[in-house]
Amino acid sequence: MKEELKNLPQKAKEKHSENRKFFGKLRKKPPKNLDYLMSELHEKEFSKTDCLECANCCRTTGPLFTDNDVVRIAKHLRLKPQLFIKQYLKIDEDQDYVLQNVPCVFLGEDNYCSIYEVRPKACREFPHTDRKKFQQISALTLKNVAICPAAFNIVEEMKKNIKF
Ligand code: SF4
Ligand code: SF4
Repeated sequence: MKEELKNLPQKAKEKHSENRKFFGKLRKKPPKNLDYLMSELHEKEFSKTDCLECANCCRTTGPLFTDNDVVRIAKHLRLKPQLFIKQYLKIDEDQDYVLQNVPCVFLGEDNYCSIYEVRPKACREFPHTDRKKFQQISALTLKNVAICPAAFNIVEEMKKNIKF
């Protein structure tokens, strides 16, 4: 996995132009069965992916924290929400709460998340490859294929399965 992660940014760079064109067409003409196809490709890829061997998302990019996330996680840590924010979060250029630093402070050396049960919604849903109307998150996915090997593989499979 280490080698795969090391090569991933370069592989994503090489595919960037092809992927950009593909998503451009997908946005204009999403196939009728896209939700079904994404759910299938996502299941197939994650049935053979061990995120505990990877944790690249937690290591290299942080989630954004919704107000609900803040309240839930602060309660779990027995902190007042304001103290949790002060201790762990900052506001980014889009005015969202994000981690002060990456790797994520809640990531253990064994790649386990110490707040797994109450982790942010964005962590639960990453890399969003099974969400409905997948064509709407093309820009985000173009970035995620350089971070997440599973997302990279899913996009490669999409290109094999969807012909314009
Ligand atoms: S909260 Fe947990 S799942 Fe989310 S980035 Fe941190 S370690 Fe990863
Ligand atoms: S979601 Fe992707 S980047 Fe995150 S741990 Fe799993 S395979 Fe790695």
